[in-house]
Amino acid sequence: MEHQSDVSQTQQIVPVVGSDVDVLLDSKIIIAGTRISDVAFMKTMLEISGFSNIMVAYDGDEVMQCLRQGIHDDICDVDLLVIDTNLTGITVRELRLVMDQFDEWRRIPIISLTQESQWDHAQILTDLGHGVTSLFYHPMTAESFPPAVMTALAVKKERDVVTQKQIQLEDELANLKVMEARLQFSVGHDDLTGLSNRRRLEQALDLTLTNVRNFNLISALFYVDLDRFKVLNDAEGHEVGDTLLVQISNALRGYFSVKDTLVRIGSDEFAILVDTTERDRVMATAEGLRALFDGYIFEHHEHQYHLSVSIGIKLITAEDTLTSGDVLSQANQACYTAKKRGRNRVHLYSPHDREMYNLRHNVQWAPRIRAALKQELFVLEFQPIYSFETGDVSHYECLIRMRGENNILYYPNDFIPVAETMGLIHQIDLWVVNHAFDLMRTLPDDISIAINLSGNIFLDRELYPLVEKKLSQTGINPARIVFEITETSAISNFEQTKEMVVQLRSLGCSFALDDFGAGFNSYSYLKHFPVDILKIDGAFITDLDNDAVDQLLVKSMIDIAHGLGKKTVAEFVERQSTMDLLKEYGVDYIQGYLVGKPQSLLPSS
Ligand code: C2E
Ligand code: CA
Ligand code: CA
Repeated sequence: MEHQSDVSQTQQIVPVVGSDVDVLLDSKIIIAGTRISDVAFMKTMLEISGFSNIMVAYDGDEVMQCLRQGIHDDICDVDLLVIDTNLTGITVRELRLVMDQFDEWRRIPIISLTQESQWDHAQILTDLGHGVTSLFYHPMTAESFPPAVMTALAVKKERDVVTQKQIQLEDELANLKVMEARLQFSVGHDDLTGLSNRRRLEQALDLTLTNVRNFNLISALFYVDLDRFKVLNDAEGHEVGDTLLVQISNALRGYFSVKDTLVRIGSDEFAILVDTTERDRVMATAEGLRALFDGYIFEHHEHQYHLSVSIGIKLITAEDTLTSGDVLSQANQACYTAKKRGRNRVHLYSPHDREMYNLRHNVQWAPRIRAALKQELFVLEFQPIYSFETGDVSHYECLIRMRGENNILYYPNDFIPVAETMGLIHQIDLWVVNHAFDLMRTLPDDISIAINLSGNIFLDRELYPLVEKKLSQTGINPARIVFEITETSAISNFEQTKEMVVQLRSLGCSFALDDFGAGFNSYSYLKHFPVDILKIDGAFITDLDNDAVDQLLVKSMIDIAHGLGKKTVAEFVERQSTMDLLKEYGVDYIQGYLVGKPQSLLPSS
């Protein structure tokens, strides 16, 4: 805001006409001076001239108080200050300085009254330099004072109008610019995270492909998928999910460089295009990214969710004759493979990924599963679980396989996801329960069996009646049956799943929470979930003997489980050193290739 002296303007004759006069007479004026008689004299002169809105002040504090009281909605309604320079508490110059610091007061003119004897040319110039409107010399006369006030007010009003218009114009312009910028931004960006969107990525990829070919460069596209995001989203709601997505986006911003193109591809999928890089650097970058999110804990209320990401990489080289769409789809396929191989891992695209991907999405699978159910193409394998307490195998876990043509054996990860999508999973669960019970009759009495149940068991109306029927038909001790459900499916539909678990347990069967700790886990859920056994996810166990963090985590999981009165199983035990550690930690059971691989034949009684 400009602070030039208004002297020249006040000295000009500002024409004040008819209706304007009425407006000016409504102006709010503060008259301040130390001598009551001087103040009263000025006030009277103005009142006689028709001014009605006059306040008086007798020292600096009172002036400031009037100024403060005048502020409403960031605007001060005071139009003019008339101040005697002998006012105590504040000098005119100080007052001007204070007022210049605030938008509300900056445009209020001051008429400063001084005694001729106090004439100080230098002082006056400084005062004027600080925007004091005008200077008068006592004694004031009725002829000179009111017109001077009128002129000062007219100038102020005129300037107010101009400033107002200016502000309005600036606002409009700014709004227009902001809108334009927003529009530009939203065409290429994701609203929630502010990252680029798929459209921007495709443009960037086109450019990358051209550059890579022309200059023989290497670029990389990382496809990042949050593991088990849906669980969090379902359990905590979309707003919480969104919060996490924003956090993830910011973490990505921090990890990558501003030169890289960061994109939100789908609800919980991100892509990052890194140009001009090297093969080794790409792998290190991906591994660093995986590690960044591994162990990242998202907390909401008292629930803790452990994050991880699956990362697919597509290297873009000069030999490739791909379109941007191909690149994206291959990165996606690589990511799918990373997920399928157990999540929380990095996978570099290879042509084999396409087959896996197609298999997963192949419509052929649904009829195949239906046929398998009818033609008895499903088979069970059994993996031993060792009990430290008895020093022997105490359980077998049933693991389903599907026989294909040419003796190919398909594993659950190939068909369970399709079965879930196609609504065939309950039939599979029922098939497994049926067969597991039948097989149990051939087992020694001291051997128990663990049966995997799919997520959404609460939707399966036939499960409970079947288990009840099987128990009475076979006369098997229900204590020998352990059902396993994954932690994620338990959390997804917590209340309904819990109800189902309570029912099945009321028959005397036990429950284990599978894959505990792998994805989003929460001890607070555990506290309220009626399970007997906690099955620590294999991801913590495979490297346990080398990984100090895993050791800490596993130890605490075991302690907490025991504290809650639950038994613990460690799966994926592959080495003696791991077994020794687990024994030391007090785990109750171990399972894994060290004890035995899944096998088709059970020891018969
Ligand atoms: P899960 O219940 O966590 O089963 C453990 C998986 O790890 C099995 O894979 C098993 O073969 C494998 N495994 C066991 N020990 C080791 C080891 O020491 N090292 C390594 N690297 N792997 C080991 P599988 O059979 O492919 O099963 C995968 C998943 O499919 C199972 O995970 C389970 O969630 C699901 N599943 C298996 N059978 C059934 C079933 O009958 N019904 C349902 N609904 N799901 C099933
Ligand atoms: Ca299991
Ligand atoms: Ca498991």
